[in-house]
Amino acid sequence: MEKTVVDHFKKIFLEILSDQEESDGQFLPASREGDEVDLVSAEKDNQMDLRLKARNAIYLKKVRKSLQKIEDGTFGECENCGVEITFNRLSARPTAALCIQCKEAEEKEENQLIHKNRNSVKVGRNLPVESIDKNFKSDETGTSNFKVSHMDYQDIVT
Ligand SMILES: [Zn+2]
Repeated sequence: MEKTVVDHFKKIFLEILSDQEESDGQFLPASREGDEVDLVSAEKDNQMDLRLKARNAIYLKKVRKSLQKIEDGTFGECENCGVEITFNRLSARPTAALCIQCKEAEEKEENQLIHKNRNSVKVGRNLPVESIDKNFKSDETGTSNFKVSHMDYQDIVT
């Protein structure tokens, strides 16, 4: 990847990090004064802040990791197959760690996993698939057994 392109993204990442430092003051804990209703809503606000903060923290971690990759000279390489991630993809998602092919393959795999669990077909190596299948068919609504079967599956694999 060309140095000018890497520098371009490095600037973006550094800006994100410095923006974050400036906005940190916005996450001050809500005031504890007031009646009980205020307390409850203040508590809710705090929880929202925490969730926002958590999501932010994950993103910032990715930003820092990307900066580290720039230092290592591996920025823009797919973590899975090593090809150079396209500039268009990085522009849309500067912290992308996978090329579009690997990302799509990963998402496809995840979807298949959900699909498999939902149908309880071929879910595990040692799973008595047939018996679970029978349970499934005996349930005419087709949905209420899912949780039970899913829990069975968890018991078996863990
Ligand atoms: Zn790849």
